[in-house]
Amino acid sequence: MIRSIEQLDLLHKRVFIRVDFNVPLDKKTGEVKDDARIRAALPTIQYAIKKGARVILASHLGRPDGKLVPELSLEPAGTVLSRLLGQDVIFADDCVGDGVRKLSGDLKDGKVLLLENLRFHAEEEANEEDFSRQLAALADVYVDDAFGTMHRAHASTVGMVRHVRERGIGFLVASELKHLQPLLKGAAKPYLAILGGAKVSDKIKVIDQLMNKVDALLIGGAMAYTFLSARGVPVGGSRVEKDKIDVAKRILDKASASRVEILLPIDHVVAREAKGGVPTETVEKIEPGLLGLDIGPKTIELYRERIAKAGTVFWNGPMGMFEIKEYAAGTRAVADAMALATRRGALCVVGGGDSAAAIAEFGLASQVTHVSTGGGASLELLEGRELPGIKALEE
Ligand code: AMP
Repeated sequence: MIRSIEQLDLLHKRVFIRVDFNVPLDKKTGEVKDDARIRAALPTIQYAIKKGARVILASHLGRPDGKLVPELSLEPAGTVLSRLLGQDVIFADDCVGDGVRKLSGDLKDGKVLLLENLRFHAEEEANEEDFSRQLAALADVYVDDAFGTMHRAHASTVGMVRHVRERGIGFLVASELKHLQPLLKGAAKPYLAILGGAKVSDKIKVIDQLMNKVDALLIGGAMAYTFLSARGVPVGGSRVEKDKIDVAKRILDKASASRVEILLPIDHVVAREAKGGVPTETVEKIEPGLLGLDIGPKTIELYRERIAKAGTVFWNGPMGMFEIKEYAAGTRAVADAMALATRRGALCVVGGGDSAAAIAEFGLASQVTHVSTGGGASLELLEGRELPGIKALEE
């Protein structure tokens, strides 16, 4: 059993909350460019404050690889947090050591202490025992609210957990589990998975797992060209993972044996170069020298009709090179169709990463049932794997 923060006694306790403040920073000014991740942690932080906890927050930011990299300090995140909470946030210039121990010991009820980037210490990602104990020594209660790192066995997600007396999950993680777990068991039918993005290799395991659950797999993105190649369809100069064509064949065979439909694009937006500002056309057959960069209008229609009738939709990976506006229509159409389906009561979940970025860019994130904050974590969960960060919390 895993306890939620509401089942923990927080009054007068030093509550260590592992948050995900891995926010994008402006390279020139060093300021936080997008505070969505900080906002996502607010319900848990505010709840702990209200319950009289002494709140200690810890996160990683970027990839400092065990070194102190001043540009990856969490201090700017602390400034934003302080503004959002409307109260001071004490900032510690490290996450372990005497200074931090003193700050955590002196912390008063309802006050907030933010620790410096955990990954300034290589011991964090190495899940090193002594470092884990040092983090644990700061707290009476451990709460994980950083879904995006729960698939990693690090000191702050796994190592320290058993050294803290009480433990549980925050509201963000609870919401992720509530929306993602039904996709593994008992999802309303018809159940569709829409997969796109660059590589088949990243998605093989999740396809294998979803194949036993879904009624249809709709494929787009560069990934589709490896599948089309496996079916012997010419794809011109489109991006293909040659060494994965056999895997794609196996998936197609398995699908037909288990009566899972696999839909591949029937038309494409193509260009001679994978960039904006060059002439594009829509074709059903890709000639040599042309690259498929988005699904075409007929494919959009086909996918839209399926989504309109679905009971459950899980989407991961853009349908084309959506960062360039000429190739964004397919991805936008999927996002639109999911928003419509959500309105009529279907369960529509977007996995993290690029598809989450895309739906946010289209302004539709609040119109689907759930957008996961964890790209890798949501995929691993759907692969049927137990996430180390979740296992560590089980009592
Ligand atoms: P992933 O990280 O696997 O979800 O892949 C996302 C990336 O795939 C995005 O940066 C897209 O631009 C890229 N992508 C999607 N469709 C295509 C395509 N048809 N050709 C090349 N790149 C693509």
